[in-house]
Amino acid sequence: VSIIDLIFPKSCFGCESGEAYFCKSCGKRASFADQICPVCSKKAIDGVTHIKCKRPQGLGGFYSVWKYEGVVRKSILGLKYKFATEVARDIARNLIIELSDRDLPFGDAVVVPIPLHKARKNWRGFNQVEWIGEMVAKNMGWGFENELLIKTEKTQTQKGLDKEGRRKNILGSFSINKLTPCIQDTKYKILVFDDVWTTGSTLKEAAKVLKRNGAGSVWGLTIAH
Ligand SMILES: [Zn+2]
Ligand SMILES: [Zn+2]
Repeated sequence: VSIIDLIFPKSCFGCESGEAYFCKSCGKRASFADQICPVCSKKAIDGVTHIKCKRPQGLGGFYSVWKYEGVVRKSILGLKYKFATEVARDIARNLIIELSDRDLPFGDAVVVPIPLHKARKNWRGFNQVEWIGEMVAKNMGWGFENELLIKTEKTQTQKGLDKEGRRKNILGSFSINKLTPCIQDTKYKILVFDDVWTTGSTLKEAAKVLKRNGAGSVWGLTIAH
């Protein structure tokens, strides 16, 4: 019996089957997210930012796979635990199945995961979001850049803050570590990747920093919203 089994006896957060924490059939049954414009949050075809909502340093679009509810929500919350590597693996597996099945609005993409501040990363052992982003990128044939963005400020958790509070909390907390050629090559869509979209303030702030440094097109990608 591994320590993981002691903390989380393995059963699906959705159907309680013993196969996984987030089993394949629950991945198929979970409600899919409506694609929305990252600026006004109204529906948008394929998540492309409405023309009237476009800003020079803003997101060109936003894509999310599931609604943040039920088994998806429970799995994402499960990622916060230190030994939740298996939950991360299950999420990645279902994400890859879904993304491979869909006609996606991006072609040549580079995944840039939202970094954690160093102090937090050490405490949690590893950055689950980064790990899932890497698995997705590998399996989708996309690039992966986890050393591009760094979190310079240790921000408070965004939990409990309203939209304006979240925007202010995250402001100026990212910087560019090193420039890589693909960032400035406009043929690539940079996908800033995070687990959940709440108000979008984190992904918007990351996009701003990337665009200031020459990125052509930056999109948000999340597991759920
Ligand atoms: Zn299940
Ligand atoms: Zn809009």
